[in-house]
Amino acid sequence: MPADSFGRQIDYLRISLTDHCNLRCVYCMPLQGLTFAPSEAYLTPAELEQVVRAAADVGFRRVRLTGGEPTLRPDLLDIVKRIRSVDGIDEIAMTTNAVLLPDLAAPLKEAGLDRVNIHVDSLDPERVRRVMRFATFDDIWRGVCAAEGAGLVPIKINSVVVRDYNEQDVIDLARLTIERDWHVRFVELMPFGSGECARLSLSKYVPNHETRDRIESVLGPLEALPKENLADESKNYKIAHARGVVGFISPVSEPYCDTCNRMRLTADGKFHLCLLNDDEVDVKAALRSGRGDIETLSHILLQAVHAKPTGHKLHEGISTQHRQMFQIGG
Ligand code: SAM
Ligand code: SF4
Repeated sequence: MPADSFGRQIDYLRISLTDHCNLRCVYCMPLQGLTFAPSEAYLTPAELEQVVRAAADVGFRRVRLTGGEPTLRPDLLDIVKRIRSVDGIDEIAMTTNAVLLPDLAAPLKEAGLDRVNIHVDSLDPERVRRVMRFATFDDIWRGVCAAEGAGLVPIKINSVVVRDYNEQDVIDLARLTIERDWHVRFVELMPFGSGECARLSLSKYVPNHETRDRIESVLGPLEALPKENLADESKNYKIAHARGVVGFISPVSEPYCDTCNRMRLTADGKFHLCLLNDDEVDVKAALRSGRGDIETLSHILLQAVHAKPTGHKLHEGISTQHRQMFQIGG
């Protein structure tokens, strides 16, 4: 397994398939002023397969597809099938807003996708519309049900907590775990760049200790669960007698950089070394100049792993400036 210069074992590749999205969450994509990568800049299914083969060759074992919204890629099933065919990849997961899952969940499972993380910020239809803007709650919920019906389990729900938008909704979201074998995880807002989403992310930030207190004040004490995987970014708990798990992902108040095991690949073919830092290593140039052999790609990937920064610098007011979250993939 490849290790970076701080001894962290890096075996998890998160691939952004597109920077487009069918929603416009208030903290992620502004309504105006967006620019997208030209479609020819996106890595093709064959190029993605080749990068994953190189990653598996040096010891990567897990892949996540993200975006933007990965289900907007018309060639998504081909991409999943190709990744599934790579020896050494144990798990393929996808992060999605679920709106297109009613049609896609079953074919995705058949193509080889193992599970999904679904982004739902509220169970209240009005507030879903306010935070996620172009989706209705019913659109998303149909997608969640389709994913569960297709066996893309365990279902993991990710909710970003935003002050004055949905901080009260965490109780109903956490309550879902009482009857369901789901993981509901609360994510702290992070600022990317300097535009309106970054300003909102800074001004509407809710620390996860507050979210946890809010949940416990109504649903009772949360019992800590042992970490199954050291690199899991979520601190997991259980409500008494619940079937599912309540998790807290706290990159701002409790950074987990020490156990980071990730490499990210942007839709336009750059290894992005840390979510909250601008450093990137180009892999597309090699793919498109006749140097797409496994040996060359593995070498580029190992260089990227070696160059990973020790941790983010949000506490110093430093974040990614050239990329937004929708361009990197969460
Ligand atoms: N469109 C898919 C989705 O929403 O799940 C995948 C891409 S989205 C960028 C991945 C995750 O990033 C989502 O769970 C979303 O809530 C989260 N996210 C987006 N902007 C964020 C921000 N500023 N701070 C924290 N999380 C954010
Ligand atoms: Fe789209 Fe996901 Fe960003 Fe929302 S968080 S705008 S669903 S990419």
